[in-house]
Amino acid sequence: MTGTGSIARKLIVRGIVQGVGFRPFIYQLAARFDLAGEVANTSSGVVIHAEGPATKLNAFASAIATDKPPLAHITDLTVEPADLRGSESFIIALSQKQASRTALISPDVSVCDDCRREMFDPANRRFRYPFINCTNCGPRYTIIDDIPYDRPKTSMRHFQMCPDCQAEYDDPLDRRFHAQPNACPVCGPQCTLMGADGHVIEQEDPIKTAARLLKAGHILAVKGLGGFHLAVDAENEAAVQQLRRCKHREEKPFALMSASLAMIAAYADVEDVHRDLLTSIQRPIVLLEKKQPNAISKSVAPRNRYFGVMLPYTPLHYLLLSEGLKALVMTSGNLSEEPICIDNADAHSRLAAVADYFLMHDRGIYLRSDDSIVRHCAGQARFLRRSRGYVPMPVFVKRALPPTLACGAGLKNTICLTKEDRAFLSQHIGDLENQETLDFFELTVRHLKRILDIEPEIVAHDLHPDYLSTQFALAQSGVQRVPVQHHHAHIVSAMAENHLEGPVIGLSFDGTGLGTDGKIWGGEVLLCEAHDFKRAGFLDYVPMPGSNAAIKEPWRMGLSYLQHAFGSQVVDLDLPLLQAMSGDRAAVVFQMIDKGLNSPETSSLGRLFDGIAAIVGLRDTVRFEGQAAMELEMIADPAEKGHYDGQWYRTEDQYRLDPGLLVRQIVADTTRGVSAAAISSRFHNTLTRLFAELCRVLRTDTGLERVVLSGGVFQNSTLLTTLSAALAKTGFKVYSQQLVPANDGGLSLGQAVAAAAMVKH
Ligand code: ZN
Ligand code: ZN
Ligand code: FE
Repeated sequence: MTGTGSIARKLIVRGIVQGVGFRPFIYQLAARFDLAGEVANTSSGVVIHAEGPATKLNAFASAIATDKPPLAHITDLTVEPADLRGSESFIIALSQKQASRTALISPDVSVCDDCRREMFDPANRRFRYPFINCTNCGPRYTIIDDIPYDRPKTSMRHFQMCPDCQAEYDDPLDRRFHAQPNACPVCGPQCTLMGADGHVIEQEDPIKTAARLLKAGHILAVKGLGGFHLAVDAENEAAVQQLRRCKHREEKPFALMSASLAMIAAYADVEDVHRDLLTSIQRPIVLLEKKQPNAISKSVAPRNRYFGVMLPYTPLHYLLLSEGLKALVMTSGNLSEEPICIDNADAHSRLAAVADYFLMHDRGIYLRSDDSIVRHCAGQARFLRRSRGYVPMPVFVKRALPPTLACGAGLKNTICLTKEDRAFLSQHIGDLENQETLDFFELTVRHLKRILDIEPEIVAHDLHPDYLSTQFALAQSGVQRVPVQHHHAHIVSAMAENHLEGPVIGLSFDGTGLGTDGKIWGGEVLLCEAHDFKRAGFLDYVPMPGSNAAIKEPWRMGLSYLQHAFGSQVVDLDLPLLQAMSGDRAAVVFQMIDKGLNSPETSSLGRLFDGIAAIVGLRDTVRFEGQAAMELEMIADPAEKGHYDGQWYRTEDQYRLDPGLLVRQIVADTTRGVSAAAISSRFHNTLTRLFAELCRVLRTDTGLERVVLSGGVFQNSTLLTTLSAALAKTGFKVYSQQLVPANDGGLSLGQAVAAAAMVKH
């Protein structure tokens, strides 16, 4: 109540403050401090007018920051004096629309403990209701069509709340006050179980029936939060194999979902760091070491030390897994590399050849969002894929940027839109290699521009003219188009999330990216600033016989490195790789190299991993990108401390490393019968020593003491860990990626920041 000694203040809170129970929180906080006034949601954030004694107003302001609701994220809180209105009480004002639309949208959030308790309580009116949610949990990003975030702007607009739900929605003291997806069995979305032909099989308890069908070995398409999953019982080898055949996914690991940490611990090692990740509200897929023996089908993750595992994140998942299934394969509902299905009719037409049954619901998904994947390595959780649960939370950069759209690369594409000091990366879009994925890319650009209210002035893109993302960028008019070299963008991505400004030493290691000299780079040491870089060192070029075929068939890279190392004597080598070459396969490849036919040159470290994997006999072809390199890392023997000799040489002002010497030592080890595990470790140790050594040389040359690590090769935990440690030991400050993936999924952030810096320069 406003009394004598009362003053008035206006507080503006920005960040994720809508749809997360912020206004009821403020309402209750005002009651706690006995303040009068009002709180309103505006498009630029939450605006509070508060009246009371100064001491209470101060305490109120600091409590906003410390006691905020679990999903709220405050980026900015301003307090300014206001005129006394003589308010009698504290009220929540109705939503108002304003010109500026800078409010942040919450990511989708896993079902909270309160809702779960209600769902399993037979006395609750939402007992076993698969769409239960509240202001602290439920769908957000995937159901929003426009801002401000209100029910008519979401896919919940088709459901009219019943009086009970409406009463909760209207009550500021209720957990469901203004929970836009609020629903119950009377008024909200419903599940149905359908056959592959689309006829309804079960409406009474479709989830129980679905669980029974899974236990009987059937493949089910299950509509989730950000799209469909294909599900099978993970302990049923025949069913998992059937899923692999139908989905045309030969060896790439399938993700698993189990109801509890205890159930996961039956087949995988769960350490404390993993427990926190698994149970976080984002519920990513977490890579966990397999326990041996385990009851999970061999075909879930063949030749892999890890399982990718997640806990349930929707109420529907919890209900499904409460029927006695220990672990489900939950892989994205698509055919090989297409985007996941989100639409019911589309799912029926695309997945009918794979799924026996469809567990459907009628709450629409506006924007698909794949499951996120994280791995704990080198002391941090790191993204392999940043998507559902994290998007559209921005990465905050050091300085405000002009509105910029960055289009990403070709594989694992994401886009990035910037607004002031916020960089919004999209969900995982996928490999831009077919029309469906390109459509999804274009849809995401349009959708994010709308809901973030950003009209880009700069469009950043890769140098590669064949990438569909580049072609999209070049087709944009009325904007400044800025090409950014791939490996430069990787380093700037890591610099941006670490708030670094150059110059730094950047180690940019990956599989493929077009260089400024038209060759394919990937083992690059750059002296790097946001707007520019100098290539200080790299691996000597070797041919990639067959171009892209050499990526899918590491034996080609094996032969190329052998030819590079041994010249014409390569034919005399006694290696399993050469013996395995039937007919004149090897001769054809050697000829391609000699004549320079379809054999672009590369300095890629990813290709060197592939080539070594082939030479030691680990893998001659791969079923998915990076598989050979991954398997080479996984067999490494941590007890092996040896290394190979190697030396940088200098040409003009660049340092270069000849992989020939390394390859000759590896061949000698292989013919001597040294294990592939020991060779792998020696290879890793050698890379660590050589690149740490070059950094020391560059420090002497330039005085730079900060080293930034990025690029897909740094998904290799062994290399990331040992190289970071070796650099830190000699006094370098080492920075790597934690907020976005080190692979091409994080590239768009670097493109955006680099392009904005180039324009300014
Ligand atoms: Zn909840
Ligand atoms: Zn209802
Ligand atoms: Fe890359």
